[in-house]
Amino acid sequence: MMKIKIMHLYPDLLNLYGDRGNIECLKRRLLWRGIEAEVVSYTCDDTGFDISDIDIVFLGGGSDREQKIVCSRLLEHKQELHAFVENGGSLVAVCGGYQLLGKYYKLEDETIQGLEILDIYTEQGKKRLIGNIVLEADFIDQKIVGFENHGGRTYIGSHKPLGRVVYGYGNEENSGVEGVVYKNVVATYLHGPLLPKNPKLCDYILRNALKHKYPGFEGLSELDDKLENTANEYIVKRFTE
Ligand code: GLN
Repeated sequence: MMKIKIMHLYPDLLNLYGDRGNIECLKRRLLWRGIEAEVVSYTCDDTGFDISDIDIVFLGGGSDREQKIVCSRLLEHKQELHAFVENGGSLVAVCGGYQLLGKYYKLEDETIQGLEILDIYTEQGKKRLIGNIVLEADFIDQKIVGFENHGGRTYIGSHKPLGRVVYGYGNEENSGVEGVVYKNVVATYLHGPLLPKNPKLCDYILRNALKHKYPGFEGLSELDDKLENTANEYIVKRFTE
């Protein structure tokens, strides 16, 4: 039986917007297909960081204060996380977690060092970028919908974005794009129930993880996504038509 092991990294600090819902979605969509799923949490009180048998790492969102605390802990695992990503491990990073994958997050009075997994950087802007957001991604045939709330502006250089902004702000006011996809990393400002509202994005992440672990993997079976698709389409219509 196939099995995917998911690590929720620092859920005690990076948990701003119900990130657990995203973990639950990853897990359920595996179980519904008869694929075993195990979720482990690694908190600030844990020792013995080990991702050698992990397939998907999830890094959630946090306030600037929480990011400052978590960053020193994360940097202790910089090498392992780098190797994990470069070797094709799946990493999903949301909002504060997305910013921490870059070189740095520059605040007014200090600079938080990042993991440098992505060649990006973030700077705090004047006003917060808050609101609903709709994206168009070239690798799935469903718009990605969500909610953004960030003070940071992320400059992604030559990285491929997660999607083109159809409605909302994205990485910064003027870029017209949002997030980053790199190898099996999906990094985005969209938080809250990102994956429940975007079943095709969730399956994209799961497919990558399964392909990486099981080279003979033949694809995910279809699920009845009527409710999920209705929720997704409602938001697309509300903000883009
Ligand atoms: N603290 C970061 C910002 O405001 C990220 C916030 C978040 O995770 N929503 O830019």
